[in-house]
Amino acid sequence: MTEITPVPLLDLKPQYRALRDEITAAVTAVMESQHFILGPEVEALEREVASYCACPHGVGVSSGTDALLVALMALDLGPGDEVVTPAYSFFATAGSVARLGAKPLFVDIEPGTFNLDVAALETAMSDRTRVLLPVHLFGQMADMDPVLDLARRHEVVVVEDAAQAIGAEERGRRAGSLGELGCFSFYPTKNLGAFGDGGLVTAQSDERAEQLRQLRNHGHRDKYYSATVGGNFRLDALQAAVLRVKLRHLDSWSEARQRNARRYRELFADADLVAEAAAGGEVRERRGVVLPAERGDCRHIYNQFVVSVHRDTRPGLLEDLRRRGIGHEIYYPVPLHLQECFSELGYAEGSFPVAELAARQSFALPIYPELTEEQQVGVVTAIAESLGRRAA
Ligand SMILES: *Cc1c(COP(=O)(O)O)cnc(C)c1O
Repeated sequence: MTEITPVPLLDLKPQYRALRDEITAAVTAVMESQHFILGPEVEALEREVASYCACPHGVGVSSGTDALLVALMALDLGPGDEVVTPAYSFFATAGSVARLGAKPLFVDIEPGTFNLDVAALETAMSDRTRVLLPVHLFGQMADMDPVLDLARRHEVVVVEDAAQAIGAEERGRRAGSLGELGCFSFYPTKNLGAFGDGGLVTAQSDERAEQLRQLRNHGHRDKYYSATVGGNFRLDALQAAVLRVKLRHLDSWSEARQRNARRYRELFADADLVAEAAAGGEVRERRGVVLPAERGDCRHIYNQFVVSVHRDTRPGLLEDLRRRGIGHEIYYPVPLHLQECFSELGYAEGSFPVAELAARQSFALPIYPELTEEQQVGVVTAIAESLGRRAA
């Protein structure tokens, strides 16, 4: 076995070290101001992120989860309402719907991109459907034209879960700018990560933006006068200060992630490991790796680089990677429709075969911007040796 230096799934330290002086100055300025909640730093961040996302408005909130929650609250979603959303995403996408007493209606994903299968959308909708909630998973946008077209025809609202997709584009259009509302997360593992939790909602109309600003602060229209019931979903000035420094570097980081993705494609090809999945997404080859599909005319920002292997091969392979210190993670081991908390929705195993296969076959590899070619060679070598040994 080749000697391989361990590679973490994500290492935020090099990014921090490179920006330490800038960040320290920005954080110190907030501390000197002693203005910690909302205020000028948050307002500046909102303008900058809105402009980055090609949206007229941005409203800073406490997390990506709260971005989804407050967006759906602004649409007055509640019991009796339904939201159509993919069966394969981070939990919060569906959790935010359920927390408001509304019902998530799931659709399967397409193999390759892991994004929602737009062909399945219309049949999933009912006359109670009020929102379509596509997710731009792993940093690549879902196919939005059919979603937008369907929403127009059925007079329902589109909310984008763009938590993993800040700066992603589809035919020149930015994630978060196509739906009525777009939800972003600044969780530290996202391409633009805070020093803690944070999030933002983009909005197309002045009215919605104003409504979001009220809802994130107890529904206050004027101080202590509430027309609606909101909550505390506010963003801290310290987080905004950190994020403003980082935003200036976001494009270079996303480009480095794209370079790393290209490098993986070359390295897996050189190792003769690239496999194709069957039509339904199943990986039948035991000594191969299916690479993530890139849609044409898209800017994929590679928040994650998710590969798939034969389902019987994955446990042993991941065990080998764990032993050799190669970072990896399964996003996500349980599709949303099979989560215990959603059992009352009545989805059986087999309802969404592509999502279920993804849960059994896929896993993420390190893709962070500062990853070196040598580290990527180590990752691919470890995978090649494990698959070679186990298939022999
Ligand atoms: C991260 C994430 C969220 C939630 O964001 P938090 O900031 O962690 O609350 C929602 N949806 C998706 C797809 C995510 O990846």
